This record gives sequence, C-alpha cells and structure tokens, in this order.
Amino acid sequence: MKVVKSVKEMHLISGQLRLDGKKIGFVPTMGYLHEGHLSLVRKSKENSDITVVSIFVNPTQFAPTEDLDKYPRDFERDEMLLNQENVDFLFYPDKDEIYPEGFSTFVEVGEITKVLEGESRPSHFKGVTTIVSILFNIVKPHYSVFGQKDAQQASVIKKMTSDLHFEIEIEIAPIVREKDGLAMSSRNVYLNQKEREDALVLSKSLYLAEDLIKKGERDFNIIKEKMIGVISQAETAYLDYIQAVESDSFSKVNLFEKGKSYFVLIACRIGRTRLIDNLLIQIN
Ligand code: AMP
Repeated sequence: MKVVKSVKEMHLISGQLRLDGKKIGFVPTMGYLHEGHLSLVRKSKENSDITVVSIFVNPTQFAPTEDLDKYPRDFERDEMLLNQENVDFLFYPDKDEIYPEGFSTFVEVGEITKVLEGESRPSHFKGVTTIVSILFNIVKPHYSVFGQKDAQQASVIKKMTSDLHFEIEIEIAPIVREKDGLAMSSRNVYLNQKEREDALVLSKSLYLAEDLIKKGERDFNIIKEKMIGVISQAETAYLDYIQAVESDSFSKVNLFEKGKSYFVLIACRIGRTRLIDNLLIQIN
C-alpha cells in the first residue's frame, strides 16, 4: 500500500489509473478504523480494481462546540490495518492543503439536510458534502462506498452525487456491530465502563422497534413511546431524537405503509458522547 500525502500526487495517480482503464473504488474515512470501516474497504475491493482509502478528520463538519480536537487518531494502527486489507492507496492529506487560507467554496444539499442530524448539527452536512466533493475530485473514483451507520449522510451523498452529475456509483453498506449490538463507531472509545453498558439502549430500542413492527404494529408513535421506555432505563442517556422516515426522501412519518421502506433513527447522548444508530425496515 502506498501512502499519498500530496494532493498533486494523488491527482496524478488517479489520472493515470483512469488512463490505464482501472476501476477506482474509494472509501472516505476520518480514521481510527474499526471493523465497520474495514467492511467498506472489503466491499470496495470486491467491486473495483484499485481501492483508495482516505483518512482526513474534516474540520468543516465539526461545530466549534464539538469534538474536533479530541477526535481519536492513530495513524500507525490505521496504516497497518489497511495494509492487511491490501488496500492500494491511502490518501492522507494535510488540512492546510485541503483548506488553504482563503478557502471559501462550499457544497450544500437542500431539504434532506435540514432534518434530524441537520437540525441537531446545523453546519455538519455542509462540511461533509464539501469534503466529499473535494475528495471525489482528487481521487476520481468510479465507485464509492458509505456506511448505513450514517444513513442520513449516505442519502445526502447520494443526492449530491446525482444533483451534481458526479459519474460515481454510490453503495451503502450495512451497519457493523459489536457482539452485544452496539454499532461500531470511532467515538465509542470515549465511553467509560458504565456508559458503554448504557450505550446498549440504542440498539436495544431499535431491536424492540423491529420486533413490534414484525408483530404488526404500524403506528410509529406507539413504537416511539416504547423505545423511549428502553432509553430511560440508562442513567447516562439523554435522548436527542427518535424518528421514522421514508428511506429515500427522509421525510418524517407516523404510520408505516405496506410496500414501503423506512429508517427508524435514533440519536442519543451517553454521558458526553453523542451516538447515532438506525434500523432499515421494509413493510410487506
Ligand atoms: P467516519 O470515519 O466515522 O467518517 O466513517 C467513515 C465511513 O465508515 C462512513 O461511510 C461511515 O458511515 C462508515 N461507518 C462508520 N461506522 C460504521 C459501522 N459501524 N458499520 C458500517 N459502516 C460504518
């Protein structure tokens, strides 16, 4: 695996790969890798000739009050893990090269970025779509894979890719969980022992929702009340939102209809750590 730091070098490499007729797969990450990230890498390797992974803790997607400075980083470990996966290129640019002084161009997606995560973190998606556009332009992938863990982000990226006519196939990969159900996240490292136990209420409440839906419940308000009951069992949990949305449009729903698919999404603070999780459901 070759580590590429310079934007110019990455441009040259991906330009040449395209000339050589190679299909480039791309996995953007913020590093501190876990099995969730590696599942995306494996998907990219299955679906392309050359896989590029980027590690960049993107400052524009963090609000001033958020955890940019303390976001976990371990480049050496990440490099080793990606080497083991036989990744071809690790793009690891400096923030000053990506955002030089005077940088002032942003990419903003409408509607779908205004709800849920967009409501709780108002400038977040603007930062995400800007960095992903920049990385798409540098890496020039044919294919890129994102995690359902960040379901709204994945939908926003799909919308941006379609609206801006990026000629890139976007794939969404399923959520990878710890054995006990907690969705893997780089931020799980912030949790102390008690909080780690409490964090299980996110996945537990989603499993309960799944179970109720399987048993025929179609009224989301009833399901939500029961989910809140699960969350309230954890002392360190502070609920941000629980919401059901149509899976394509992310418009909020209260009643599930036959033949449609939905996300049930949850965001919760466990102590000082904000965690998100979701469940994709198809109503038959
Ligand atoms: P991040 O490094 O948190 O920006 O995540 C990079 C990519 O990995 C995003 O597309 C995430 O959705 C994805 N990802 C993060 N956690 C998981 C997980 N537990 N399962 C699957 N994909 C994940």
